[in-house]
Amino acid sequence: MRAVVYHGPRHVSVDDVPDARIERPTDVLVRITSTNICGSDLHMYEGRADFEPGSIFGHENLGEVIEVGSAVEKIKVGDLVSVPFNVSCGKCQNCESGFTNYCLRANKPGIAGAAYGFAEMGPYPGGQAELLRVPWGDFDCLRLPEDARSKQDDYVMLSDIFPTGWHSVVMSGLKPGESIVIYGAGPVGLMAALSAIVQGASQVMIVDRHPDRLRLAEEIGATTIDDSKVSPVDAVMELTNGLGANRGCECVGYQAHDAQGHEDNSLTLNELIQSIRFTGGIGTVGLFVPRDPGAPDDLAKHGRARFDVGDFWFKGQTMGTGQCPVKRYNRYLRSLIAQEKVKPSWIVSHDLPLEQAPAAYKNFDAREEGWTKVVLHPAQAA
Ligand SMILES: [Zn+2]
Ligand SMILES: [Zn+2]
Repeated sequence: MRAVVYHGPRHVSVDDVPDARIERPTDVLVRITSTNICGSDLHMYEGRADFEPGSIFGHENLGEVIEVGSAVEKIKVGDLVSVPFNVSCGKCQNCESGFTNYCLRANKPGIAGAAYGFAEMGPYPGGQAELLRVPWGDFDCLRLPEDARSKQDDYVMLSDIFPTGWHSVVMSGLKPGESIVIYGAGPVGLMAALSAIVQGASQVMIVDRHPDRLRLAEEIGATTIDDSKVSPVDAVMELTNGLGANRGCECVGYQAHDAQGHEDNSLTLNELIQSIRFTGGIGTVGLFVPRDPGAPDDLAKHGRARFDVGDFWFKGQTMGTGQCPVKRYNRYLRSLIAQEKVKPSWIVSHDLPLEQAPAAYKNFDAREEGWTKVVLHPAQAA
């Protein structure tokens, strides 16, 4: 099969690799028809994560089931399914408690949580390929309605970024009528803005410096703040009568950098602490890592940050962290799409065949104007 393979920093190609196949009775084999390039793929693409050369990218996958293992009971050949980026067994203590983001059996002992095509997240090849093996397929596959065949660019967001944006808003503690500020208007930040609107925020502010992303945020009614022109903290204060926002979302992660290009992994966290009022909450879904050998400073190399714990504590703020448990939300978000309450495909800028992945990575990584979200289509839906 053809697949997007990592060869080293900023070097990917579409190669012939052995076909994914059923390996265990609980496996489902999916022919991938839509798979996104994600911002977190870029950390690996840039060589800023421990991603083994030869690995296949792709954790935002949608496709058609073409074969099921002998122990699979629910999922059938021909089903169109969304595959959560979390690989989870459905049987361990964490899965049973709803924490499929921290499955205790899918990764090596001592590490909870696994994902497709992701550094340190287990041995699972990604879905930027013609075929994907889904372990524990009955538990992990979400069946999609018939309209998904023509609305793949909406439903493909169910595997990661729509639930992840939703989760960041949930972790912030947002209640209807409250205000929220989102740092980062990349795909996850834009989904957080959409989620905050659906969850009833009275005011959604979003901070970024790329005009194409800010335009997309404006299209759904968010108030945009260009941090290359103004201090985002001052702007939020001005918009909230000097109080700060009730809630905030971190959707940038450890490679945050200021408008001059200086990288600082504490930048957005500290701006959030300043932007949010006393007793406010923060949901952090931007990626942070325990080790970052390529970091520009010694603290960050060890996964540490100059976090303003004094102000954070003094203001009585709370923060939720970590990857999203996609299964907690994906059924309900599927219904929002099916009922046309939301259209998450509004951020998609490029629908491309798999073979064009190398150029897509290059442009998306360079934050080229207009490259807001890329969906690759390795195969056509039947
Ligand atoms: Zn992703
Ligand atoms: Zn589990």
